[in-house]
Amino acid sequence: MENCIFCKIVKGEIPSYTIYENDRIKVFMDINPIAKGHCLVIPKNHYTNLMDIDKDVLREIDEVIKELYPKFKEKLGAEGLTRMQNNELGQEVKHYHMHLIPRYKGDRQEPKVDEEAQKTVAEAFERLT
Ligand code: AMP
Ligand code: ZN
Repeated sequence: MENCIFCKIVKGEIPSYTIYENDRIKVFMDINPIAKGHCLVIPKNHYTNLMDIDKDVLREIDEVIKELYPKFKEKLGAEGLTRMQNNELGQEVKHYHMHLIPRYKGDRQEPKVDEEAQKTVAEAFERLT
């Protein structure tokens, strides 16, 4: 999809801190994180939202998240994981994406993390494939 920022990330035209990818799915750090390790899971093919995404791709996204969840615990000390996915209203980027937000004890009081911290997290994951 032309002019889709996430399609450009898939094509490598825009850089991203990628922590996981296979032929169909990519996981990379959110540029404006609300928690340490906040990342986005996207299908490499362009789907707009829940309405048009392929069911098999949805299922694989869940499988990838199940694989990653213990890594957030091991590598970041997260004690939980919140998933969030906006459709239409409130959806800034019109390419399906699932937010993964690692949760930490008492995290509601924690300050926002910066991009450098996100880079460190991506390095800790050693780009899982
Ligand atoms: P949503 O409001 O659910 O559409 O969320 C879009 C998310 O994409 C936001 O959390 C943005 O910070 C994130 N985002 C936008 N552009 C980029 C980018 N180039 N790299 C990584 N994350 C991005
Ligand atoms: Zn796209």
